[in-house]
Amino acid sequence: MPSARDVLLRQVRAFAVPVAVVVEYEADPFGVRGVVDGLIELLNCEVPLLVLRCDVSALGALCCGAVAAAVGTRAALRHLYPMVPTPSRRRLSRPAPSVVVSGCLSYRRLGTVARTKRRHPDSNLWWCGCTTCGGRELDWIMHRPEWMRERLSFQHSLDALAELRDQLIGPDLQRDQLTWRARCAIAAYWRREVGWEPLPALDRWQQAIGLPPSDDPSLPSRRPGRSIPPQRGSDRTTPPR
Ligand SMILES: [Zn+2]
Repeated sequence: MPSARDVLLRQVRAFAVPVAVVVEYEADPFGVRGVVDGLIELLNCEVPLLVLRCDVSALGALCCGAVAAAVGTRAALRHLYPMVPTPSRRRLSRPAPSVVVSGCLSYRRLGTVARTKRRHPDSNLWWCGCTTCGGRELDWIMHRPEWMRERLSFQHSLDALAELRDQLIGPDLQRDQLTWRARCAIAAYWRREVGWEPLPALDRWQQAIGLPPSDDPSLPSRRPGRSIPPQRGSDRTTPPR
C-alpha cells in the first residue's frame, strides 16, 4: 500500500499545477524527522510550490526552490496548530512577542534575548543594523512601552528576514542550498555558545541537504520559478568545501 506521501507526490505530479502547503503540528513541524525530506521531494515534482505559515524555515524552503514562503506576523500564525478541545471559553493570553535573532536563525522571546544578552554582553548576536533597529542591540525593544513591543518586534523580524533572504538567495539553486546548510550549522553553533537548547529544525535542514549536489542526484538542480530577483553583490556565506 503506498504511503500518504507517495499518494500526495503522485497527485501533485499528475495535476502539475502550483501548490501551497501548510504543515500542521503541535510544535515546529520542520523539527520533525522526515518533514524537510518530504518538502524537498515535493519540490522535486517541479511544480511551483509555496509554503505558508512558516517561521525562519521559510528561508530554507526558498533556498531549496520554493517560489514563495510566508512567515506569520506573530507566534500563532507561524505554525498551524492542531485543533484541540478547550475546557472552557477562557481567553488565553497572547504570548510575549518574539524577535528574529539572525545569527541563530531563530525566533526568541524578547525577555529571553534580554536575559541572554546580560550573560553574554560581548556577543555580536544582539546588534542589529536593520531599518527598525538602526544599529541598536535587540533588547532596545524591551525598553519601549508594552503596547509598542509586538509591532516593533514584527518590524524588526520582517527586516531581518528580508536581509537574510537577500544574503541567501541567488541565481544558483544548488549554491543556495549549500549556503543555507552552512548557515544552519553556524546558527546551531551560536545557539550552543549562548546556552540555548538545540533547535531540531537546524539539524533537519542540514541532514536533508546533506552532501554537495554533485554527489546527491536527489536534489533539484534548477530553480523552477522565483518571486525574488537575485541579489548581486550581497553578503553571502561561503558554502562548505
Ligand atoms: Zn533589527
